[in-house]
Amino acid sequence: MRKSTGRRFLLAGNWKMHATRPETTALIDGIKEAAAKARDRDVLVAPPFTALETAARALVGTTIGLAAQNLHTEPKGAFTGEIAGEMLKDVGCGWVIVGHSERRQYCNETNELVRLKIDAALRAGLTPIVCIGETLREREADNTLPVIERQVREGLAGLSRDAVKNLVIAYEPVWAIGTGKTATPEQAEEAHGAIRRLLREFAGETGAESIRILYGGSVKADNVDALMAQPNIDGALVGGASLDTTAFSRIIAFQ
Ligand code: PEP
Repeated sequence: MRKSTGRRFLLAGNWKMHATRPETTALIDGIKEAAAKARDRDVLVAPPFTALETAARALVGTTIGLAAQNLHTEPKGAFTGEIAGEMLKDVGCGWVIVGHSERRQYCNETNELVRLKIDAALRAGLTPIVCIGETLREREADNTLPVIERQVREGLAGLSRDAVKNLVIAYEPVWAIGTGKTATPEQAEEAHGAIRRLLREFAGETGAESIRILYGGSVKADNVDALMAQPNIDGALVGGASLDTTAFSRIIAFQ
């Protein structure tokens, strides 16, 4: 826990559509040591659905958490190909990523759908990691803050203060995801500070101070230290580098 903020850092690996079951076991084995040493921070992995049970077994005896990458809005029913929050809970997940920009972009997920998914996750007892962030076009048009404000307002609409306090937010500028371009620590901090101020409306002043806001977008071993030094950055959502155990171990052990 950081004495200055009272928030624990969270380092989350989003494996996207990567990792068979044997690869899952190897990826987890490769970060166990780093995670065990990182007592003052939380670590989790988000494998694809087919590897969740294997991951849950491999994680026994560790403090590494398990997340899914998506869920459906309903607890059960005739929704071919979908997975419910209750099923994720049953397989051992404690967390679920909601509204990742790849889902917004390729699966047409809207802020309204994100809101329903947050509700579904909370009902199932999962902690949602809610992704927001602007595209390059929106940033170049000087629209970054209005876009993320809208994503927060529409995504969190109607949630109780207690529900909002249980969320993790991930600020992920779309132009930085998987591109090798990272937001500068100053650009990221500007967005994180704005998000935290906005969260006061939803969770009150102390509530907003307790919510973790992760940065995501080409986080690597060589840029993680400077990003994590920012006062409103409480961890990272890591895609590509979380598939390399040496790189992710170094990210977990950031200074
Ligand atoms: C992500 O998948 O959320 C992500 C930030 O990916 P990358 O680290 O590869 O940019």
